[in-house]
Amino acid sequence: MNYWYGKVTDQTIEELIAIFGGDNVFTKKDEIEAYSCDEMPLAKHHIPQVVVKPINVQSITRLMRLANEKRIPITPRGAGTGLSGGCIPIYGGILLSLERMNKIIEIDQENFVAVVEPGVTLSDLCNHVEQQGFYYPLHTGEMSATIGGNISTNAGGLNAIKYGVTRHNVLGLEAVLPNGEIIRTGGKFVKCSTGYDLTQLIIGSEGTLAVVTKAILKLTTKPVKREVLFAPFMNLQNALDAVPEIMKLKITPTSIEFMERSIIELVEKYQNIEIPHHQHEAYLMITVEGESENEIYEYFSKVEEICRQNEAVEAMVPGSARAQRKLLDAREKFFHALQQYAPMAVIDVVVPRREISEFVRKVREISEEFQIPIIVYGHAGDGNVHLHPICLNMNRGEWSKKISRLMSEIYHVGISLGGAISGEHGIGFDKKVYFNLETDIALINIMKGIKKAFDLNNILNPGKIFDL
Ligand SMILES: Cc1cc2nc3c(=O)[nH]c(=O)nc-3n(C[C@H](O)[C@H](O)[C@H](O)COP(=O)(O)OP(=O)(O)OC[C@H]3O[C@@H](n4cnc5c(N)ncnc54)[C@H](O)[C@@H]3O)c2cc1C
Repeated sequence: MNYWYGKVTDQTIEELIAIFGGDNVFTKKDEIEAYSCDEMPLAKHHIPQVVVKPINVQSITRLMRLANEKRIPITPRGAGTGLSGGCIPIYGGILLSLERMNKIIEIDQENFVAVVEPGVTLSDLCNHVEQQGFYYPLHTGEMSATIGGNISTNAGGLNAIKYGVTRHNVLGLEAVLPNGEIIRTGGKFVKCSTGYDLTQLIIGSEGTLAVVTKAILKLTTKPVKREVLFAPFMNLQNALDAVPEIMKLKITPTSIEFMERSIIELVEKYQNIEIPHHQHEAYLMITVEGESENEIYEYFSKVEEICRQNEAVEAMVPGSARAQRKLLDAREKFFHALQQYAPMAVIDVVVPRREISEFVRKVREISEEFQIPIIVYGHAGDGNVHLHPICLNMNRGEWSKKISRLMSEIYHVGISLGGAISGEHGIGFDKKVYFNLETDIALINIMKGIKKAFDLNNILNPGKIFDL
């Protein structure tokens, strides 16, 4: 179905100024240009007609009523670190930036809960709660992302095997519907069997159902100790074969990351550092938390045994906290090292953990077939594989012709192994075509029905996930 959209006129701008105040409404090119893209590589930029930066929920309800009445598209945005074009205003209209709603409203020490506005960054929240002896366990490769963005993409990150992803750490929400109504879901409690779970429905909906204006987050106690083990292997297959055995141990690690030499070389150049044992083909980086050093070292000795049984060349725990930090920092810089290296695409397929090596094997075949190199690394503990096809020795025209067929084949393989198109980045605009091709029509139809129930006029982040 085609939707028509109204334009932002001078009168609309006046109405927006009346709602938000002149200091929170932006129309000049140099003020709004940065809101035309996110971190999705090679994405086409779309400049919104106006950017608004609310400081309270009431102004968002007024905005929604205005936009709904005039059929003006609204695109919510957090920090713009998304990798799927989710916050790109592809129909122009109003860009709703939540960056100024960035208060940590409450740390409830009795209920182990934080109540926050959506524009709080993940890094600010983690630092704040840790100062009070608590822990918010989500740790992604981009800590400047906002909590609202994390919720809307159901962000995952490194600690998912132990703590789950964003949806496992959100207890309740306040959100504004496209018709301007405010809803409150869940609360400061863990259990709830009271009707449909709208908290979980809004999480991961990529700003297409409602604007998140407040979140109730689950906290835990700060881990006493955290250590990293680094194990180089002769090949990726051996490294990945060790993972299911490690997962059978009594302690669940916080993360198990895998990587190949190609990305290690790039990050070494990017950061001007040397990674220990950097001449080997593949690596596991395992992080564990515990109550004491003894507990952790006992665990690591078992992990080391498993790694060696799977032909690891070494299994080392860097001696100093600084050396461990260096390894973790390097892991966090993979994306930036790649960005600097060459134009690339981003794929974040998830498959059952056991299928990672088969998936990577098939990806290699596809890479050969298309003559496009693909850098591979990922979260071995949870099956989320990051792939970056690289545009090297090929002109952009040839690349554009090949890349969507290559991506299609990779998604198809991922799904045939029991996986899904996106483990943590979301569908956004980038993967819409593949999602719609590969997903059961009955599922898409239910999703479209839900979208219509929330947003009859399709004004909230239209053109994302699917087209109505
Ligand atoms: C270097 C790098 C590393 C990354 N590592 C990870 C990783 O480890 N794990 C991971 O999951 N992701 C990762 N990401 C992706 C990104 O950080 C996440 O998708 C993050 O959750 C986006 O948050 P944001 O605030 O930047 O949201 P944005 O990019 O601004 O928006 C993302 C989506 O959320 C919607 N949205 C934002 N705020 C709201 C709101 N308040 N209400 C309704 N909708 C809203 C937008 O419309 C859009 O659809 C990485 C990105 C980069 C650049």
